[in-house]
Amino acid sequence: MVNDPLKNAEAQLRSVAELIGLSDKEIKILLKIDNLLKGEISIKDDKGKIKKFKAWRSQHNNARGPYKGGIRFHERVTENEVKALSIWMTWKCALAGIPFGGGKGGVIVDPKKLSVSELEKLSRAYARLISPVIGDKKDVPAPDVNTDGSIMAWMLDEYEKKVKHGEPGAITGKPLALGGSKGRPEATGLGGYYILKFLVDALGLEKKPTIAVQGVGNVGSYFSKFAHDGGYKVIALSDSRNCIFDDKGIDVHKALAWKADSGSFVGYSAGRIVSADEILDVKCDIFVPAALENAVRGDNVERIKAKNIIEMANGPISPEAEARLTEKGVIIVPDVLANMGGVIVSYFEWCQNLSGYYWEVEEVRKRLEDVMKPAFGNAWGEWISLKKEKGSKIPFRMGAYSIAVRRVIEAMRLRGKI
Ligand code: GLU
Repeated sequence: MVNDPLKNAEAQLRSVAELIGLSDKEIKILLKIDNLLKGEISIKDDKGKIKKFKAWRSQHNNARGPYKGGIRFHERVTENEVKALSIWMTWKCALAGIPFGGGKGGVIVDPKKLSVSELEKLSRAYARLISPVIGDKKDVPAPDVNTDGSIMAWMLDEYEKKVKHGEPGAITGKPLALGGSKGRPEATGLGGYYILKFLVDALGLEKKPTIAVQGVGNVGSYFSKFAHDGGYKVIALSDSRNCIFDDKGIDVHKALAWKADSGSFVGYSAGRIVSADEILDVKCDIFVPAALENAVRGDNVERIKAKNIIEMANGPISPEAEARLTEKGVIIVPDVLANMGGVIVSYFEWCQNLSGYYWEVEEVRKRLEDVMKPAFGNAWGEWISLKKEKGSKIPFRMGAYSIAVRRVIEAMRLRGKI
């Protein structure tokens, strides 16, 4: 299968293994998925008809702590994708330095085609399926593509019914009223904005770069709003159908409010509307893919004109595309670093649930920056050393992976697993 995310995850690990000298045996151990729960869930739709959905929970590695990662509802989600996403969570948590391993869940469904009551039934059925393998010390799910706080609330409620006790730390990304954390909904986007600032500093840029953002789901919309409020010019913004382009800079709040009211960017008064795909051609300083995997691949990489890239989605640039862009001098801030804000605030939420003491949003945001700053600095420093030692064509991802993978290996060695 072309552009299989699992193949990409494997290729990335093999590349870092070559740089830091891991054996084939170690690579095999590191790629092993600890547990894969696979099932079919069924619900009665609003007309009383039975509908079936394929579902997974992949638990990759828990050497550093309970498995952690979101649940994705998407009509094209696959088993390999869920596995790859769980592997990336392991590296992300290790690089962030938070005490979790990697997990991910997925259900094949287009949630837009379900009514609210069908969505609730599906979420509850999924929670029943995974309830034997999750828990605040085992595996802690959270939102991902097309899932949010209300879905987490249904899942937690169903899980607690099953285990017959309250356990808010078993799921993060919950609404505040059920033990959620202030600052969680916007955390991934805000974390990406911190990364933008760290990158600008690391590159010593005097002028604020222009930005093009692909995807306006939770991550892309919060990222764009923070960037806009921070004085950056967002010159292009795309959803799954259209791209709005304005080289004078888009008023992100207004454009997103227009889309929220009317359902699309079409008809928005400023800028030009082109097809969604044309976001790839935009001449900007920083391209921010914030949609799905493999947005940039071997067959379309030549269209990218951005000087640098911040990966806010998971796995948006294929290894082949990454190699070609790196060759040209494009710096790609990898997903495991750029979008770690969400899982870091999930970690804060879990800490608050376990201690029963809740923080103000200012504290959440400050602590988020305090965790992300050294994560960026360590990955950047490691990348510079790797380039000096092994050659200049090494992608930034390898700096991040080198640190993350070595942390996981250390934990596995201490446990006698490697
Ligand atoms: N789905 C998010 C991610 O890919 C957040 C995961 C979490 O909070 O556990 O990082």
